[in-house]
Amino acid sequence: TPVLFSGMQPSGDSLHLGNYLGALVNWVALQERYDAYYCVVDLHAITVAQDPAALRESARRTAAQYIAAGIDPERSTLFVQSHVPAHAELAWVLSTITGFGEASRMTQFKDKSAKQGTDATTVGLFTYPVLMAADILLYDTALVPVGDDQRQHLELTRDLAGRFNSRFGETFRVPEAYIPEVTARIYDLQDPTSKMSKSAASDAGLVNLLDEPKRTAKKIRSAVTDTEREIRFDRAAKPGISNLLDIHSAVSGKSIADLEAEYAGRGYGDLKVELAELVVERVEPIRARTLELMADPAELDRLLAVGADKADAVARETLAKVYDAVGFIRRR
Ligand code: ATP
Ligand code: MG
Repeated sequence: TPVLFSGMQPSGDSLHLGNYLGALVNWVALQERYDAYYCVVDLHAITVAQDPAALRESARRTAAQYIAAGIDPERSTLFVQSHVPAHAELAWVLSTITGFGEASRMTQFKDKSAKQGTDATTVGLFTYPVLMAADILLYDTALVPVGDDQRQHLELTRDLAGRFNSRFGETFRVPEAYIPEVTARIYDLQDPTSKMSKSAASDAGLVNLLDEPKRTAKKIRSAVTDTEREIRFDRAAKPGISNLLDIHSAVSGKSIADLEAEYAGRGYGDLKVELAELVVERVEPIRARTLELMADPAELDRLLAVGADKADAVARETLAKVYDAVGFIRRR
């Protein structure tokens, strides 16, 4: 069975609808056909300012949300990145074949660092994509399901794999990205030209999986739209309405064209109220299940330890090959 790898950062209080529709829904479907590794990428989460107690809570909560959304820890390998030392070790080796200019071209780094300012921006944030390449390449990964914001990082991963192979001999499989078309990018409800993001400045535009249903409904009803009246998909002229239609389509399974027909002659209010109901209905069971799982941290930790043992065994082997290939002598 081909291997699939993906992960999310334990940052913020909850995963959001972008994480869910853009990635997690696919993870659940794909675990049937792939040998899937789903990682809570805590090493990535410390590349920006963070609070240790909040990080600890968030790591378990992220794992709980994976399971609540449908990841089966018996079938898939569910683990925490910092439990497997080979991630940081391989990242170091890959950083030595990554060009400084190449890394400087990563748009996510440029966006995040521009928001933070250079003094708050860390070298860790800069090398984040190299660590991400290591995450993926350790497991002989064939497929990486991610949102559209990760497209460039995936390209870098493929370049690094190919470069390492041609310099040091065939070592890594070159992975493919799997980016769903419709839900690849869910936008912030208050700022529908920016992607919905855990690290957004304000929470008002984020639909969090763990929000109270009332709060979720209110956020959707307060989404920023435009001054026209017509409900039609037009990303450039009507980013707010287009985003709501995308979300509706992802949750209801109806096509955008069908939705435009269904809402012809009706107001924005109707769309928002009905969408709010649909989203709450979808997200509420995930919230409830997450809270149940969080009530038993010992059981969660047990599941994560099983995943870590399995991942560690595979990752160690890859790292040993890499160390051989670059010319490190074996410890005896
Ligand atoms: P941060 O702002 O801290 O980077 P994030 O919201 O981008 O957080 P990540 O943990 O970086 O979340 O990403 C987890 C997964 O969710 C990735 O596959 C990413 O592509 C996907 N994703 C994140 N935001 C969106 C979005 N707005 N729409 C679709 N997919 C998304
Ligand atoms: Mg991100």
